[in-house]
Amino acid sequence: MTKSEDRWKAPGDRGNRRLPNVVRRSPFPPSESRALGSPLQPAVVYATPDVDALEDQYEGRAVGYTYAREGHPNADLLAAKIDALEAAPAPGLITSSGMSAITAAVLGVLKAGDHVIAGDQLYGKSLRLLNQDLPRLGLSTTLVGVADAANVAEALRPETRMVLVEVVSNPTLRIADIDGIAAVCREHGVLLLIDNTFTTPAVVSGFELGADLVVNSVTKLLAGHSDVTLGYVAARDPALREPLEDAVATWGLTPSPWDCWMAERGLHTFELRFERAQDNAQRIADHLAGLVGVDEVFYPGRDDHPDRALARALLGKNPGNMVSFTLPGGRAQANALMRALGGIAFAPTLGDVSTTISHPASSSHRGLTEAQREALGITEAFFRLSVGIEDPALLLDELGAGVAAAHRSLAEGG
Ligand SMILES: *Cc1c(COP(=O)(O)O)cnc(C)c1O
Repeated sequence: MTKSEDRWKAPGDRGNRRLPNVVRRSPFPPSESRALGSPLQPAVVYATPDVDALEDQYEGRAVGYTYAREGHPNADLLAAKIDALEAAPAPGLITSSGMSAITAAVLGVLKAGDHVIAGDQLYGKSLRLLNQDLPRLGLSTTLVGVADAANVAEALRPETRMVLVEVVSNPTLRIADIDGIAAVCREHGVLLLIDNTFTTPAVVSGFELGADLVVNSVTKLLAGHSDVTLGYVAARDPALREPLEDAVATWGLTPSPWDCWMAERGLHTFELRFERAQDNAQRIADHLAGLVGVDEVFYPGRDDHPDRALARALLGKNPGNMVSFTLPGGRAQANALMRALGGIAFAPTLGDVSTTISHPASSSHRGLTEAQREALGITEAFFRLSVGIEDPALLLDELGAGVAAAHRSLAEGG
């Protein structure tokens, strides 16, 4: 007997059991009743009965999955729901993050030599992509104020291929002249990409506003619990779906099935969460505006918002869950506020079920010079609230305590 045969004696031989085959996969146990939750499929690879069957799938004669980087059921399940929310004319794709959704649009659609125009108050990493990474890859970019479509028209060049806009700016919550920009894009055959993260499909559909491409950071309000990182990208023209899909599969922008499963679960309550958070946001904005020790409040649902008419026309009764405000003072007052806010977490994100506060000067806008920040009105005592779904009375108490602490620290010369 060879040594290895020696280890596997006849069954029943004590201490030398021959194990049954548990290496191979077994079919799922049958059930007449149906699971109410969505199944989670973490498999990376899919088996086909024979070569012809695989060929049929690759050639599009049969539907099916082959390899998870190229698509998996949990991503498609989630994408279909967000397609419905965004009123997407053609099926969209889920990606591994909001940034990878923007990356998919850029890598799938643009080429070296193309020119991109974008709003100058975008999400921080989008600004970095435009300022540093696209130029490194041979694309040119121009950032303009998007409150006036004339700025976009003025920046057009013959090689302009795309305009990237967020409807509500971060963190000053100004409103883009989106109808004007969409008209400029249509007239010149330039693709309009709308990042609908801040506004969310509860307020606007990027496609209904005239976008050719829509992205959303699913990480934020759509998933809503700060426990997944995901993005969504869709194109109006079905012919653009393939280059987007290729970009995701080739550059590896694929989402994890677990994240997709979690986000789909979060999506069930999206509308309820959004309504409650927005209701809280309006109350908070109005309350802060009346507090001693608050300088300015920025909320598109208030009559003192600089773009109130545009906000009313574009957002209707849905000014959203984001509120920004300033206090007199500087870093010392910012620290005093943060320390006194109780359960409101100081965290550089948005869209969580619980209220979070961020400090743009030290996070999203730290890459700017002080003069650039000053020009945008982002001082050391500028704050952005992502309002959650808590009891509004609790939030008003906590914010009141925070503002009072900052006010005291100013009076004490801190
Ligand atoms: C967060 C955010 C992104 C990026 O999303 P991630 O999921 O963090 O990659 C893009 N745009 C906006 C407006 C965002 O708020």
